[in-house]
Amino acid sequence: MGFMVMILISASMTLFTYYKKNLLNDIELRVTNIADEITLNIAKDPGKFLEDPTDLLYPDRENELYYSDMLIEFVDSSGKLIAKSPNMKSYRFIHFKGEDDVLSDILTSNGDKLKVYQRKIDVDGKTIGYVMAGIHTSRAYNDLNKLRNSLSLIMFTVVIMMLLGLRFIAKAEIVNDQRKFLSFASHELRTPLSVISGHAEVALSDDNPANQKEALKLIREESVWMNKLVSNLLSFFRSEAGVEKLLKKEMDLSEIALSEATSVKSRYPNKNIIMNLPENAKLKADADSIKKILSNLLDNAAKYTGDKGNITLSIENTGKQMVIKVSDDGIGIDKAEQKRIFDPYFRADDKKASGMGLGLAITKAAIRSHGGKISLASEPGKGSTFTVTLPLS
Ligand code: ADP
Repeated sequence: MGFMVMILISASMTLFTYYKKNLLNDIELRVTNIADEITLNIAKDPGKFLEDPTDLLYPDRENELYYSDMLIEFVDSSGKLIAKSPNMKSYRFIHFKGEDDVLSDILTSNGDKLKVYQRKIDVDGKTIGYVMAGIHTSRAYNDLNKLRNSLSLIMFTVVIMMLLGLRFIAKAEIVNDQRKFLSFASHELRTPLSVISGHAEVALSDDNPANQKEALKLIREESVWMNKLVSNLLSFFRSEAGVEKLLKKEMDLSEIALSEATSVKSRYPNKNIIMNLPENAKLKADADSIKKILSNLLDNAAKYTGDKGNITLSIENTGKQMVIKVSDDGIGIDKAEQKRIFDPYFRADDKKASGMGLGLAITKAAIRSHGGKISLASEPGKGSTFTVTLPLS
């Protein structure tokens, strides 16, 4: 938006400067041309200039109307008035004695602006007088002012229209986001709820203790998943509303990482999780946020790898910051989609695994609120690596 406004301002400034330059050039050209033409005529008959110069005031008397806005004055070599056009009335130009080819801007006592050109008339090496041609520039300046005002008005209107347009687009996006959210949320919450009630039905109606245990195990798994979903949703809305508070305490990052990896392994027993966790991983941070960051990244790594997929979790303490890497050898992410992966509700692959496209948005917000960063390196078909850096305190 800022960029567009800058382009608009510079385009109107260029247009204005171009128009102003052309208009002023035109005025200069008119006064210099007429003075030059008159000078040529005088040079042909210098005697007439000194004795009866009235006929020489306009170069082409038949076309007098064309020169009607021109103010012409002749003076002799000493600066004494010889003749002037009737429209000059009692006005006299300022004369620059001995000078040739002089362009000047004059403001008259009644506020008129004039552009005046002075030409010296030399005949056989001797100055016999001067021609001075002037033209009113007030109207041109008025036109320029009008143009400037119109351009400002156009700019103002365009900016207002752009702002209204942006608001409309933002509103449309919100509605679109809300629609996406409702469709995901209803699906993501309904599915585990119906699974839970189905297994509860089995546990209640089946007398076999082994079947009851299996049903309860599945109920627990679904509730863990739902718990994670609801907690993600709540923190997303809290961070959107700007009310998420951090409770920073000293903790051992390796300990939390181990516990989150163990919990992911229990949900995805077929996946291999390789860990490289340092002994000294002391960090001052909000424990809930750190758990969420690790569990979201590990969960995604598990969700988007093949059946016996490999996940690597490594932590390095550089002395200044903690570097956490979560890699997988799964489906990877398209280059074009990598930029949008942290946007709320964005799902590159919404068919293959369940989710609402909020996990990475929440993860990024939690990392940023700790003053950290997250980056992604991924290749479709080969896998992805998410790298998180967190300051030590
Ligand atoms: P979701 O709940 O849909 O997983 P996320 O915000 O966690 O939401 O992720 C957004 C999208 O990013 C996912 O839908 C998926 O397409 C993609 N994604 C995230 N992590 C990975 C990964 N490790 N491998 C491949 N794709 C991933």
